[in-house]
Amino acid sequence: MKYLKTHDEKCIGCNRCMSVCSMTFFKEDNFAKSAIQVRPKEEGGYQLIVCNQSYRNCVAECPTQAISINKLGVVLINKKLCINCLSCVAACPINAMMHFPGGLYPFKCVACGACVKECPTQALEIVQEESA
Ligand code: SF4
Ligand code: SF4
Repeated sequence: MKYLKTHDEKCIGCNRCMSVCSMTFFKEDNFAKSAIQVRPKEEGGYQLIVCNQSYRNCVAECPTQAISINKLGVVLINKKLCINCLSCVAACPINAMMHFPGGLYPFKCVACGACVKECPTQALEIVQEESA
């Protein structure tokens, strides 16, 4: 299984990961269009919200079978099948299926690793494990 592992305790809240994610997939520096979200915690520090590819409630809830799991265990959305019902967004227990107002499809982390290189504190890491 391949996924983006987060080390929240190392995050300094610079938001570079959100910029690079939205630039990579939407060609826009727009935090609302990032598949990783950086949230300040009340007690200090930051929480990183991103798909860990493991709950998969979205796959079960999608009425059109638009969501599948590839050979590496990465959960992917087929835009051609998606009807934008947002059942997957509601089903995700960690709020990692993203959607922005006016968006035609939900979107999520596909473990591409673009953000990993940009993080100045090594708070992000792509992990590939044997079992799916
Ligand atoms: S928004 Fe699209 S991918 Fe999500 S559950 Fe609905 S049809 Fe499936
Ligand atoms: S790039 Fe790294 S340090 Fe900056 S907000 Fe993202 S995870 Fe935190």
